[in-house]
Amino acid sequence: MTQSIAFIGMGAMGWRMAAHLPKAFSDVRVWNRTFSKAEAHAAEFGTKATSIEQAVQADIIFSCLPTSSEVEAIISQYPPKNGSIWIDCTSGEPSSAKKVAEQLAANNVAFLDAPVSGQTIGAERGTLTVMVGGNKAALERARSAMEPFSSLIEHVGDSGSGFAVKAVNNMLLAVNLWAVAEGFTALKAHGVNIDSALTCINASSGRSLASEVTFPQRVLNREFPLTFALSLLAKDTGIAIDLAHTAKIPAPLLALTQSLYRAASSSLPDDSDFSASVKLLESWTGIELKSN
Ligand code: NDP
Repeated sequence: MTQSIAFIGMGAMGWRMAAHLPKAFSDVRVWNRTFSKAEAHAAEFGTKATSIEQAVQADIIFSCLPTSSEVEAIISQYPPKNGSIWIDCTSGEPSSAKKVAEQLAANNVAFLDAPVSGQTIGAERGTLTVMVGGNKAALERARSAMEPFSSLIEHVGDSGSGFAVKAVNNMLLAVNLWAVAEGFTALKAHGVNIDSALTCINASSGRSLASEVTFPQRVLNREFPLTFALSLLAKDTGIAIDLAHTAKIPAPLLALTQSLYRAASSSLPDDSDFSASVKLLESWTGIELKSN
């Protein structure tokens, strides 16, 4: 059966994810608040720029917006058609996924929280990890629509579980990045060659994505290219700490990390990449994390 697919949100991620869909589906509708971006996408990738009303009439509807509140606002104003599947790739809030999934189920619409990891480069290459919460049978019906942009699609539990896993994942990125920044600031203060130190650490047990990729490709070269906004990472750390709070679990390291990223996000310009969070530490220490 030919399925119609829609993608709502042509941001840094949505633009690249939706670009893969015409390889597998002939009816791919795209919508964006700034509509010229949807038109540009259609011109470049062979998708169809449609109204939001037409988008929500598709069999499978993807959304990738900043937070759950923008997704909820669209769903309440433009309800999807009966029998469709809504796949929300936003890094959203577990409580919102549970609520929306329950509301939509009453209209025979399945809602999957399906946030992604792999950054814009993974979206471009079609190698994202998708962590899916919600009805497993709905996931199997929708799996072929996610495959074009992903290498791993994993069902992680009931509604909200996908968002929960994503929040914890991003909290781990935040913890690692901040720890690398503090460690390297100390090394630099002691006159150590930080490029050589990074080579050692990336061949040792302390390495992480933050040390292997973020540090050399964004921080030490002072480029901080905007592909994942610091405000979005700060939002994710907030979702992660809420998970601990609502479960009444002590999480002192996560709480501290959330405060640091909230402070970085409010003190740096709005268009800062997540990697620019190290500038807050630099402003406290007067030590710049720059290649030798
Ligand atoms: P961007 O800021 O690049 O894009 C945001 C998108 O949301 C734009 O299409 C924007 O439209 C749209 N939008 C914003 N507000 C509204 C609104 N009120 N109503 C309708 N549309 C709106 O975000 P990203 O693509 O970077 O991130 C999207 C989600 O994916 C976030 O939850 C983020 O945390 C997550 N994510 C991001 C990654 C990354 O590396 N960037 C990696 C993994 C997950 P307009 O063009 O009109 O502004």
